Amino acid sequence: MVKVAKFGGSSVAGAEQFQKVRAIVEADPARKVVVVSAAGKRSSGDHKLTDLLYLCHAHLTYGVSCDDIVHTIEQRLCEIRDELGLPFDVGAEMAKLEQSLSKDMSADELVSRGEYLTSRLMADYLGYQFVDAADCVFFTYDGQVDREKTYAAIKAAYEQHGRIVIPGFYGRLPNGRIKVMTRGGSDISGALAAAAIDADVYENWTDVSGILMADPRIVKDPKPIGHITYAELRELAFMGASVLHEESVQPVKEKGIALNIRNTNCPEHPGTIIVDKIEKEERDERFLTGIAGRKNFTILTVNKRNMNASQTLRQTLEIFDRYHANVEHITLGLDSFALVTSTAALGDALYSLMGDIEKQCHPEDLRVQDGIALVAAVGRKMTFRPGISGKIFKALGEEGINIRTIAQGADELSIIVGVDNKNYEAAVQVLYDSFAG
Ligand code: ASP
Repeated sequence: MVKVAKFGGSSVAGAEQFQKVRAIVEADPARKVVVVSAAGKRSSGDHKLTDLLYLCHAHLTYGVSCDDIVHTIEQRLCEIRDELGLPFDVGAEMAKLEQSLSKDMSADELVSRGEYLTSRLMADYLGYQFVDAADCVFFTYDGQVDREKTYAAIKAAYEQHGRIVIPGFYGRLPNGRIKVMTRGGSDISGALAAAAIDADVYENWTDVSGILMADPRIVKDPKPIGHITYAELRELAFMGASVLHEESVQPVKEKGIALNIRNTNCPEHPGTIIVDKIEKEERDERFLTGIAGRKNFTILTVNKRNMNASQTLRQTLEIFDRYHANVEHITLGLDSFALVTSTAALGDALYSLMGDIEKQCHPEDLRVQDGIALVAAVGRKMTFRPGISGKIFKALGEEGINIRTIAQGADELSIIVGVDNKNYEAAVQVLYDSFAG
């Protein structure tokens, strides 16, 4: 059994967090590959190392001294080193960094030092071999990860050393220069490492006990999701839940590796397990995996008696395309259809777009409703189960929430309802209270 354990910024924010990480790693000998983010915030007023480094780069660009910021970074690293009694020479590393600080230093190179230095400390503390991401994560010039080369290099490092720490978030371009990923990119590095060594599990350690069933800003203390499929996760992410994004699950999903989201501050909690397929499904009445949603959509309804639906719909979609407005949902009736799109995506183009529809499709009626929120109830257990939509509509109806539009994913993984923006929070709460218990 081999596990890749990725620890996010809050899990390595200070010496106390480092101690928790070591206890976790030592508790399971399968945790042989550790991927580390840059030290994050220790409290709400604190700063992430990555943000300090971006700030440093901005100072350099405008010719302002960044000595104070460099000093703050050095202090944080020294604090961790001293509290843990490590021999790591922070001074020498910072001197090297200071020497290369100039207007010409790329932001990527500078910012990557957050992950680099945090991982050096972590490797020393765990007694694992440090393997620089610049030597094992490779990009092509178009910014894509060169999977083949990356997998081969990580696998070789793992086979050579057995227990390794790799910094997340960055890698190397073919010309040797450092490139960073998008923010939060260490999740991707962890997934790449897990795929590279064909790990049994990819553990993503963070500061919550897994993916929550609903947005905690709306529902008080929502339950974490125990098991979820990659397809369900995708639906939740698409509908706005702040969960791991597609790019960071792809490598493990492709290899059929389970992803386990865990809480560094509560290691006894099993967290959320994400798999391709759930073999043994619990036989209970619960059909909901999670709830997600977003506000500010516009519904455009086209009415035309005896229309050739496919022709009118095609023409309308082409018009939307011309204005680069992404259509999120379509509902089709006998003499009408409705398109749902994000209000921001339509922007100022709405009236020109409506004009084009009038001219090309000659509808009897063209209606616009904005201020719509979409709420998605996602659950694999809804598939082929009759009566679910009825239950959802009843629960919302009983709370006096008017449903403006309804859509169901073709694979029956989600039921999406459109409600007025002002009813959004209430709709999420009602669905949670009615079906998450
Ligand atoms: N340190 C980077 C960030 O703050 C990458 C990461 O944490 O995954 O976005």
